[in-house]
Amino acid sequence: MPSFVIAEKCDGCKGGDKTACMYICPNDLMVLEPNAMKAYNQEPDQCWECFSCVKICPTQAIEVRGYSDFVPLGSSIMPMLGTEDVMWTCKFRNGLIKRFKFPIRTTSEGSANAYSDLKGKDLESELLSTEEADGMALKTPIETV
Ligand code: SF4
Ligand code: SF4
Repeated sequence: MPSFVIAEKCDGCKGGDKTACMYICPNDLMVLEPNAMKAYNQEPDQCWECFSCVKICPTQAIEVRGYSDFVPLGSSIMPMLGTEDVMWTCKFRNGLIKRFKFPIRTTSEGSANAYSDLKGKDLESELLSTEEADGMALKTPIETV
């Protein structure tokens, strides 16, 4: 289910040009209503339910309701982003609350390069990432051991 903003909790990121949720949404769905200074999801049908806006919101104003197979009605899942980890608070239907902490990646923003060891060297190459330029055979990690 798409994200939605709890208006009472949203402070419009205190009036910045681009709010945290607008900045982080990979599909540019979040917008700020300029009079009320409250964010909302302008196109819920396009929401990927990636939880990025939920995690980054400084006031925990955004929720994504999970599907009933893993988040039955009456329960909820809410992440809280720290500097080194994400704390997930899971509330079960019977009121039981459990918290789980997972580390986040510590590479600085924009520095990750998934293609640093790309053998084909560039994204225009017809070679696959594990393929050598001088041979057609693929060398998977298992085969090269
Ligand atoms: Fe409101 Fe949170 Fe979005 Fe900031 S990140 S505008 S507080 S919903
Ligand atoms: Fe955008 Fe992801 Fe939030 Fe949906 S859950 S509004 S796709 S950031």
